[in-house]
Amino acid sequence: MRMPPFQLHTPTSLEEAILIAGDMTSKKQEFDWVAGGTDLLPNYKWHLNVKANVISLAKISELTELNETHIGAMVRLQDLVQSSATHPVLAKAADTVASIMVRRSGTVGGNICLDTRCYWFNQTEQWRESIDWCHKCDCGTEADCRVIPNQNTLCVATYQADLAPVLMCLGATIHLAGPNGTRSMALSEFFQLDGMTRNVLQTGELVTHLTLPEDVAEWQGDYQKLRQRESWDFPEAGVAAVWKKNGSAKPSQLRVATTGLESIPMLHTKQVDECLDGWSGAESINELAESIRKAVKPVQNTWFSPSYRRKMVKVLTRRACAGLMEGGS
Ligand SMILES: Cc1cc2nc3c(=O)[nH]c(=O)nc-3n(C[C@H](O)[C@H](O)[C@H](O)COP(=O)(O)OP(=O)(O)OC[C@H]3O[C@@H](n4cnc5c(N)ncnc54)[C@H](O)[C@@H]3O)c2cc1C
Ligand code: SF4
Repeated sequence: MRMPPFQLHTPTSLEEAILIAGDMTSKKQEFDWVAGGTDLLPNYKWHLNVKANVISLAKISELTELNETHIGAMVRLQDLVQSSATHPVLAKAADTVASIMVRRSGTVGGNICLDTRCYWFNQTEQWRESIDWCHKCDCGTEADCRVIPNQNTLCVATYQADLAPVLMCLGATIHLAGPNGTRSMALSEFFQLDGMTRNVLQTGELVTHLTLPEDVAEWQGDYQKLRQRESWDFPEAGVAAVWKKNGSAKPSQLRVATTGLESIPMLHTKQVDECLDGWSGAESINELAESIRKAVKPVQNTWFSPSYRRKMVKVLTRRACAGLMEGGS
């Protein structure tokens, strides 16, 4: 697999990066951002939707700030794991990403913006050609989707990154910058239910950082992940749960989010509200796990079958919430 040619741009400040992006956008030149390159560059080697230009964020030091409530887009995953400023549930999720080699290069921004994955797409060019491509392949054939056949408007490739569900549960805000200025939103509003569009980023826009609320340290919780090989695989399902107990047996607040099951990570607000309304301890957690199993809609495009992943979501939810039944606040 040979790397296709592309022009690499290496701005040294955010301002310069946005200027380059704005210039290319106005000239209708396509480009990708690259951070650690642990996902984009393997995809390029497989000739997956390669662009003629790549803008690297590697030399922009202002994107590397990390403290309890601020996480720069260029913070490396291993630094997130090892920092005493990182919330323990976030550190746990980051520690499950790939292997230490990948985590030393991979970044938070790249993880949040990770391309969606699909058995019919993450293959060599020859393999994809042999099945006459699919809708997500940038080949101009107007091929159908192989998962939901007879249509070429929707891609249901799966979002398989680990950090987003934890960050969503912790109430993260994502901050974007681009040629038209800056904007911010709740991380749960960043993702878009289409395996190609993926998120609300406009052309030329990038993620600069995430912020967490001041009370982030008051939340406890857990992250549980299903994967094929424990050593480095992407989540086939992931469940984050965080709560505040304030000294009582019933949590005063609870949030649960999933990943690896659809084209976007999902915050399960309705299911959690119902659980807290009729709270009766362990039985309520069982019911919550069952309602989340019913809510998620995996499709047949990763290693494990959709039915197994749904069964396991129930197990993972119970495991992620196990700490709720323990004493203390
Ligand atoms: C063997 C292997 C196993 C892996 N296992 C896991 C796993 O278990 N869990 C998991 O979550 N991931 C996994 N990954 C994927 C990947 O390594 C991580 O998600 C990593 O955090 C991606 O970060 P990066 O900086 O390398 O992203 P890059 O490859 O540089 O970029 C990824 C995508 O994000 C975009 N992007 C990057 N930064 C920004 C930004 N600031 N603003 C806008 N767009 C941006 C890029 O354009 C690209 O589309 C694995 C990868 C490999 C090779
Ligand atoms: S879900 Fe369909 S369109 Fe998307 S990558 Fe898979 S086969 Fe292609």
